[in-house]
Amino acid sequence: MRVVVTGGAGFIGSHVADALLADGHAVVVVDDLSTGREANVPKAARFEKLDIRNGGAVQALFETFRPDVVCHQAAQTSVAISTREAVRDAEINVLGSLNVLEACVAAGTKKLVFASTGGAIYGEIPEGQAAGTDWAPAPQSPYACSKFAVEQYLRSYQIEHGIQSNVLRYSNVYGPRQDPHGEAGVVAIFCQRLLKGEPIQINARREVGDPGCVRDYVYVGQVVKANMLACTGKLSAPVINVAAGVPTTTLDLARAIEHATGKTASLGYGPRRPGDVARSLLIPDPILGTPTALGEGIAETLAWFQARA
Ligand code: NAD
Repeated sequence: MRVVVTGGAGFIGSHVADALLADGHAVVVVDDLSTGREANVPKAARFEKLDIRNGGAVQALFETFRPDVVCHQAAQTSVAISTREAVRDAEINVLGSLNVLEACVAAGTKKLVFASTGGAIYGEIPEGQAAGTDWAPAPQSPYACSKFAVEQYLRSYQIEHGIQSNVLRYSNVYGPRQDPHGEAGVVAIFCQRLLKGEPIQINARREVGDPGCVRDYVYVGQVVKANMLACTGKLSAPVINVAAGVPTTTLDLARAIEHATGKTASLGYGPRRPGDVARSLLIPDPILGTPTALGEGIAETLAWFQARA
């Protein structure tokens, strides 16, 4: 197959591009390198430095490459930035995604896989519960609103233009290549800080000093698996959760990373971050099998950071 991976210079997109190439597909990576790095793009992929807000350029590329599948990972990915810059978030995440969909229409592409957010789209998950895909979305942040909007457009483009889509609602993804310098990616931030002996900060769930928000951390390998099933037509469900289904506080996470490094962190406690939900936990789709255990995934991630230290 010919596959376009948008955001393929980023953390998740580059792992998906690797897997598609290993499976024998031709891959074009579209990325503006705003948070991604050219070094992440696999050598065997063609790289097009393009901003998805430039609809004409995206369309011209699609019309010449004629992708069978588009794996759409490119996005403004920070909840915190979306609360400060909601318009820019929507320009990239909503209008940019519409440009990708319009380019699919122009090029006759009939399949799109969309990186959505299970971590943010369901809003607050009450204590003792976990969100399944049958839960009504309750987005709080502009980022979650933009992802939900695109999910709705996908239904419209399926009806109007016959573009089949799979929506993959990821929980909090972690693993090698995640950018510790960004505002997202607490696992990457903590791993790097602990390795350097720098203090780490637990942002409050409600009050400064509490163990922090509850999250469902999923290893990137599980996310790649979901994308491969979707891209190769082995996923019939239009929407799935890609998650581990294990509730973990920020403090639990810090302790797990301390355990893996054998180092003790100097912990600081900060206020709640705007836009962050207090508790997020998903019911993972069984098609993805047993998720990687947190300790195992952290060991892989740490090994990657250590090799680059
Ligand atoms: P990332 O920042 O590493 O990757 C995003 C990529 O998109 C980057 O390479 C960036 O340069 C590119 N990009 C951004 N704006 C662009 C634009 N206007 N035009 C072209 N390229 C652009 O982040 P990631 O964690 O790999 O996220 C990948 C996808 O998964 C995103 O859609 C994100 O919203 C979604 N997601 C991620 C998580 C997570 O925990 N990491 C959770 C839920 C959903």
